[in-house]
Amino acid sequence: MHLSALFLSAFASAALGALNEPCAGPGGVAGVCVTTSTCSASGGTTISGGCPADPADVKCCSKTSCANGASGNCRWTSDCAGTTVTNQCPGPAAFKCCSSGATGFGGYAAPTIPTAGTSSGACKAVSVAGAQAVVAAWPGRVREIFCTRACACPGTSDHCCGKAIDLMCSDGGGVPTSSGREIAEWVMNNRASLNLKYVIWGQRIWNPSEDSVAAWTSWRAMEDRGDVTQNHWDHVHVSFN
Ligand SMILES: [Zn+2]
Repeated sequence: MHLSALFLSAFASAALGALNEPCAGPGGVAGVCVTTSTCSASGGTTISGGCPADPADVKCCSKTSCANGASGNCRWTSDCAGTTVTNQCPGPAAFKCCSSGATGFGGYAAPTIPTAGTSSGACKAVSVAGAQAVVAAWPGRVREIFCTRACACPGTSDHCCGKAIDLMCSDGGGVPTSSGREIAEWVMNNRASLNLKYVIWGQRIWNPSEDSVAAWTSWRAMEDRGDVTQNHWDHVHVSFN
């Protein structure tokens, strides 16, 4: 069981909230959804509206100055290019005091591109082309790519028909990152050439047939599905027409 799921199960009132998951402050500063008391106790700054699915006392909390040598800032460990120090930051253990001001997104070897096939469940050419385009545009930022899934086509997911890809962009499955936001917005901006159906990042969805072009922070919020992976804080989901 995922840590956040364990925590949520103990607090029924928080069942709709993505407690301990990422959020973003002004300018894309890294934050974590925690109670306002947790935020103030850790010396963080509360940002309203950053955790829209959460109860009233859970808000986005950032801390842009913490003690790691001479300086530091709180961010997700997957996004830290420098060293990290514990017990400086609000939220879960993966939100740590990073020594570096530089973002540490990615740095991964080129991922294996899925192979296209023609059977109903095979990864389709449009998905393969989309995967190639993203990897070319964002070298080092995608660690692994999934296309197919063990389900009948058509099914509840576009993965069942090989018409969706998951672009894993943190150090591991279930490891939160802020890295996917730029990739997701790039997918939106390249919707025509990608033949985009919809894109999901960070518990928000954008569909070219329903939504106008906007920054990720303005995309439609999705329900809390229960953990970092299901809420798309470790991968960008892209569905193709
Ligand atoms: Zn997916």
